[in-house]
Amino acid sequence: MTDTSVAEDLLAAIRTIPDYPKEGILFRDITTLLGDARAFRRAVDALVQPWAGSKVDKVAGIEARGFILGGAVAHQLSAGFVPIRKKGKLPYETVRIAYSLEYGLDEMEMHKDAIVAGEKVILVDDLIATGGTAEAATKLLQQMGAEVVAACFIVDLPDLGGRKRIEALGVPVRTLVAYPGH
Ligand code: AMP
Repeated sequence: MTDTSVAEDLLAAIRTIPDYPKEGILFRDITTLLGDARAFRRAVDALVQPWAGSKVDKVAGIEARGFILGGAVAHQLSAGFVPIRKKGKLPYETVRIAYSLEYGLDEMEMHKDAIVAGEKVILVDDLIATGGTAEAATKLLQQMGAEVVAACFIVDLPDLGGRKRIEALGVPVRTLVAYPGH
């Protein structure tokens, strides 16, 4: 087995689709990474590495790719998993937060009993761009009394400044690969 670096492996496994979902966007498609057993394992191992052996109560994943990664991360850390979903999808009572998208507002929510105040939580999604999505998810978790110990993403688009928005909430950000531009 060649000993390529984790970042090299992951970059080779991520597919870029130009002009999806609209012109000018370079969509970083991680389904190819998820379908590659070695890359998927390396990504999950690398995401959790700073917390291996430390106590994490819950992993919160952002719909939908954050569910796939977050579930694997939770399993690896022997933590529970909490889904953060678009509004209207969860069956029990929820807490909700509005956040702005490029055009207009959207809302995300989680079950009101999903987190107990004081629990240590790691937030997971596939990619951080402007940080608006992860910022809303972090605020929602913090409003529930969670101690958000980190926000983890496979891909960073650093030119869009998302990392700073999360760090401004007192939460360290972990990313594995970066692409310039958007
Ligand atoms: P943002 O709120 O701007 O940080 O956007 C992050 C969310 O949008 C994540 O859930 C990503 O999956 C998705 N996203 C944004 N930009 C891209 C992109 N270039 N490629 C793939 N997914 C993206």
